[in-house]
Amino acid sequence: MTRHYLDNNATAPMRPEVASLMQELAHKPLNASSVHQYGREARFAIENARAKIATLLNADGQGIIFTASGTEANNLALRGIAASQYYVSAIEHASVRKTVPHATLLPVTADGVVDVEQADKILSRAPKGAMVSVMLANNETGVVQPVGKLRKIAHEHGALIHCDAVQAVGKMPVDFRRLGVDMMTISAHKLGGPQGAAALIVGSCLPLTAQITGGGQELYRRAGTENVAAIAGFGLAVELATRDEGRMESLRQRRDTMESNLLRECPNAVVFGARAERLPNTSCIAMPGVSSETQLMALDLDGVMVSAGSACSSGKVDVSHVLLAMGADKDTASTAIRISTGWNTESQDIDALLTAWTRLYQRAGMKHEERKAA
Ligand code: PLP
Repeated sequence: MTRHYLDNNATAPMRPEVASLMQELAHKPLNASSVHQYGREARFAIENARAKIATLLNADGQGIIFTASGTEANNLALRGIAASQYYVSAIEHASVRKTVPHATLLPVTADGVVDVEQADKILSRAPKGAMVSVMLANNETGVVQPVGKLRKIAHEHGALIHCDAVQAVGKMPVDFRRLGVDMMTISAHKLGGPQGAAALIVGSCLPLTAQITGGGQELYRRAGTENVAAIAGFGLAVELATRDEGRMESLRQRRDTMESNLLRECPNAVVFGARAERLPNTSCIAMPGVSSETQLMALDLDGVMVSAGSACSSGKVDVSHVLLAMGADKDTASTAIRISTGWNTESQDIDALLTAWTRLYQRAGMKHEERKAA
């Protein structure tokens, strides 16, 4: 059966150029702390990746700290600076929410956008030395957040601001200096790079305490022998993904057409965040009366791979905290799936989704609606 992968926000397929570069490097014993030829080759590969990422995202190379995952980078940002109080949006990824479980939540509107006025009110009462963390784009709905405005507000109230840009890079222009945040997280496997490489980008002079201690790697901010092949692959993936941003417009058109088609089939379907600015590759849609789990399984049987917005790492499907924060009722939220396209999505993949989704709706969703109307 042909497979149709529409779960790029979970992890994107690795780009072939990245795979060949990594394969070439993986055959060599590369430790960047060694002084011999292989050591120098390793150092060159890492510094080349660092310079590339710095240039492409308009950041200072020295501010880039390579980590093993976006989760680790988020942990480093939030634990590496002892803030007096944390403020995070109600729709943050678990790697932020669970790292600062006592944080004050910044609410979002029904469109899934952080409510700037509310944030201003809440942050006006922030104690000195607070920290705010807001993502650039949400992983479930794709809704883009007003990070520039929130940065201004945070700084006005004397707080630092961290931005989780894991889902944004390669799907929208990202400029670290222009965004003006103090720290920003990025992750390779969401943009066609490998798993096992990510980074926290910090502004100059920010005193950060390492959370993994040992050797002096990454200027003493993250100990441990660097994953040379993965970091090199990360640098190349950022280059290819940012160069490919032009393709995003066609993804957006395809996504919008797909949503119109789904809504024509099922006018009661709900597209979350539809009125807000969204990543061009993401669609979060609820099919009335059919649980996310049933949809995932039925689509999977037809070779179409998507996820429930809230598929957690245990593999269980939970009701999405993001959709609940947007004011969705539990019944609707538990019927939502996330469709996320990527660099190698073809129109056949979308067609397969449309066919499978429509068939399921006619089989199960429509019956539910008829029962409800009777
Ligand atoms: N932040 C967001 C918004 C994410 O979507 C994810 C992964 O799903 C992460 C952080 C964690 O990144 P990683 O998988 O590299 O740990």
